[in-house]
Amino acid sequence: MFLRVHQGMDNKKIRKKSLLLLFTGNGKGKTTSALGLAFRAMGHGFPVCMIQFIKGSWRYGELETAKLFPTLFELRVMGRGFTWQSEDLDKDVAAAREAWAFAEKTIREGHCRLLILDELTYLLSYGMLDEQAVLTVLASRPENMHIVVTGRAATPGLIAAADLVTEMLDIKHPYAKGVMAQQGIEF
Ligand code: ATP
Ligand code: MG
Repeated sequence: MFLRVHQGMDNKKIRKKSLLLLFTGNGKGKTTSALGLAFRAMGHGFPVCMIQFIKGSWRYGELETAKLFPTLFELRVMGRGFTWQSEDLDKDVAAAREAWAFAEKTIREGHCRLLILDELTYLLSYGMLDEQAVLTVLASRPENMHIVVTGRAATPGLIAAADLVTEMLDIKHPYAKGVMAQQGIEF
């Protein structure tokens, strides 16, 4: 730890940089961490856009909260539900590409200062999107746009490309004891 801090101090300081952040791992907290950053960024007046690539079946609280910040927080739910429940993979791939096209447009337009690509990792690990093409677009982000990617099973290429990678470690989850998803915590 000390070594890393020390090395950082030796390097030339970079005052401002658009970051690619990745929250991955099997533990809980990836999407909610990204939402925490949204809360922080909006406090500075930064417009935030969140694209959810996989549509869950819950009525997520954050979908309602987003409506309270109509000028600062844009939330787009794309995707068709979970692929492992799907009976039509072609339609899933088409939905994934459509969702990615929207993300690409958002990056190009450069309006938002924080862009959250929620559960994007799956589209790469399942090979629904071309990893290299995605990485190229992520790298083309404007100077004042941070991007957060969340999801389990991040591909090595994405990990290599990110400036910050945090792995949520599943030490304990109430689900293992048969506790159902709790309102306000899981959805
Ligand atoms: P959250 O949205 O709560 O931050 P997450 O984004 O880290 O969770 P996902 O992989 O997107 O987690 O899974 C979403 C759902 O799965 C949530 O309801 C979450 O509580 C649940 N979950 C996350 N980790 C675990 C786990 N280790 N065991 C069981 N369920 C889990
Ligand atoms: Mg999540």
